[in-house]
Parts: sequence; C-alpha cells; structure tokens
Amino acid sequence: MSEQVVADPLEFARGYKSLDGKIAIAHLDRVKEGLASVTGEVRFKLTGFLNENNEPGLRCQVQATLKLVCQRCLEPMDYALEIDSPLLLSKDAQVLAEEDPDTPDRIPAQRNLSIAELVEEEILLALPMAAYHPEAACKGQTHSELGTLHPFAALARLKTDIER
Ligand SMILES: [Zn+2]
Repeated sequence: MSEQVVADPLEFARGYKSLDGKIAIAHLDRVKEGLASVTGEVRFKLTGFLNENNEPGLRCQVQATLKLVCQRCLEPMDYALEIDSPLLLSKDAQVLAEEDPDTPDRIPAQRNLSIAELVEEEILLALPMAAYHPEAACKGQTHSELGTLHPFAALARLKTDIER
C-alpha cells in the first residue's frame, strides 16, 4: 500500500481542502495489538479549516468497527468507533510541549504528514482502556461474582442496575 500523506498540511488547511479514504486495520501496527481480529478497514476524512483566530487546522474524522476483546469473558466484541477531532496545526514544537490540556489538540505542521499515523494516533486516544460486552450479551461472570470484578466494571454494572 502506498503511504498516503498530506504534502503540505498548512496549505491543505488554508485551502479548506478535504480528503477521504480507507486504511486496512492490518496496516495500523499500534492499533492492531490487542484486537481480536485485524480484518476490515477504517474510513477517514480530513478537512482543512481555519478557526476563529485564523489558525490552520485539520478536522480528522474516523469511522471503524474494531474487534476488541471483552475484558469480562475474553470473547471478541464489535466496537463502533466514531472520531471527529479538530486538530490545530502548530509550527512551533515548543507550543506542543507546553500544551494546555484544555486547548484543542495540536499536531506538528510537518510536510508529508502521514495520514495512517495521524489516524492511528486518534484511534489510540479514542479506544477505551478496557471494553466489555453489554451484560446481557456477555458470557462472563454473573452478579454473584460482582465482588471479584475490576472496580470500574462493578461500578458500570451498578449503574446499569440503577437505570433498570
Ligand atoms: Zn463479554
């Protein structure tokens, strides 16, 4: 597969250009670790924009259904991923280092920006630390084993119970 790049991200942003395509999940080395299956592909769309301060950015949209492993029963589960991130381009590495967590994400405005790397980074940020089937669809532990679950899983179950 030829590597897809944005040759000049600043020009792309200022021209409000857009680009979409697909990347095979098998090509996303850091994402595919931990997946139950690496078949399929992710769809992406990049759209250039200038924000209200005239700062150039790329809106990164990613859609994919990934096969994660349920951490309760260890069976595969479909996880529908939908990402829509406005990323500001930064020419200054110093700004990147001092980034305030409340500001929009910034990426370096380097030439020949790799789309696969950008998409991979966004997916890694969006994936949950641990994924679980909905309880009704899970072959894992039952309520009597609640105490042995990971505390967050127990909380999630408690919440589901209250909502019933
Ligand atoms: Zn499960």
